[in-house]
Amino acid sequence: MNWAASVPFILIHLVPLAIIFTGVTARSVILCVTLYFVRMFFITAGFHRYFSHRSYKMGRIMQFLMAFGGTTSAQKGVLWWAAHHRHHHKHSDEESDIHSPRHGFWWSHAGWILCDKYNETRFDLIPDLAKYPELRWLNRFHLVPPTMLAIACVAIDGWPGLVIGFFLSTAVLYHGTFTINSLTHVFGRRRYVTADTSRNSLILALITLGEGWHNNHHYYQRATNQGFFWWEIDISFYVLKLLSWLRLVRGIHTPPQRVLDSNRVKDGCIDVGMLTARGKFLSA
Ligand SMILES: [Zn+2]
Ligand SMILES: [Zn+2]
Repeated sequence: MNWAASVPFILIHLVPLAIIFTGVTARSVILCVTLYFVRMFFITAGFHRYFSHRSYKMGRIMQFLMAFGGTTSAQKGVLWWAAHHRHHHKHSDEESDIHSPRHGFWWSHAGWILCDKYNETRFDLIPDLAKYPELRWLNRFHLVPPTMLAIACVAIDGWPGLVIGFFLSTAVLYHGTFTINSLTHVFGRRRYVTADTSRNSLILALITLGEGWHNNHHYYQRATNQGFFWWEIDISFYVLKLLSWLRLVRGIHTPPQRVLDSNRVKDGCIDVGMLTARGKFLSA
């Protein structure tokens, strides 16, 4: 862990304490809640389902806007994010998985971000994205969008706008996003047999606008939706569906029936993920 380099991350968590001085306004609370959910959408629908998995298509301008929106979350650059996520799927819960809970809960949640080992963008994992100069620019100057958003928050509601609207929502958004790396490999149920410890959880799906259906996602990563059935609430997917009706995105892909029906844990298949997880957790 590089504590010196982690100071900005820690400060983002401490700044909201300044409400003692700034006070809380209704406008700043609305700003905070809105910025949490809007930016969560950019992270889940954009950084995750589009840039990391290419599970649907969009034009170049929309692609830039999606990347810009996600970058306002201050979760480093879009190419950095997508490359590390692709690595996670390639090596889920293996020794080399960057953020497997096998390495400890805190490590999978935030520790891996605070160490120097994973600072660099793995361009070898994202050649399809790195060919766009505007995305490379955004990846390099990833602090520009959050800074612009912070200034906008000051313009909207002064100091409470900055402290509650920007900093508090950014800190909460970190942990909402991080639960996918940590808790969705620990809590919830497994429906499909996968070679990892991914799970499905309604609560985590509500917090993250649909990402809590993580076992579904690990099982069939090509799908734009992660809630596979009508009762699996997946807000990001509903918004993407709306955007496809408006022709702002296209090529939405949902799992075929045979994929939905096969490889269920209850089918009596050997659940590699479960066995692996148990063995490793017990021995840890
Ligand atoms: Zn993924
Ligand atoms: Zn995962």
